Parts: sequence; C-alpha cells; structure tokens
Amino acid sequence: MQKSIKEITFEEEFRICPVCGYQDGFHSMLKQEKDHIKWLFICPSCHEIFDIGHRLDRL
Ligand SMILES: [Zn+2]
Repeated sequence: MQKSIKEITFEEEFRICPVCGYQDGFHSMLKQEKDHIKWLFICPSCHEIFDIGHRLDRL
C-alpha cells in the first residue's frame, strides 16, 4: 500500500516531523521516477513520507 507523500518546503533544517512532532530526524528512502530519483524521508514515529525536493540524477 502506497502512502501519500507530503511535500515540504525545506528551510533551515528538516529534523522535526511536522505531523507528529518527533524530534530525532528521519529514515530515508529512494524512489525512481522517469528522469530522476526522489530522495524521500520517512518519520520513524508516525511513518508519514515527506518530499523536501531532494533529487538525484542517478545512483
Ligand atoms: Zn511523525
């Protein structure tokens, strides 16, 4: 089951979960799209997935 991905505008720091308030950072995951790879972040507490706009051209 694919959870929805929440888009976040990155500012100075992305450490605290905007959904549940967990304060110790995120797990990460990679997702292949057509011409780039999305680097996504998963909250270890509430398991929401966040996209802060981080992209890779390739691995
Ligand atoms: Zn959370």
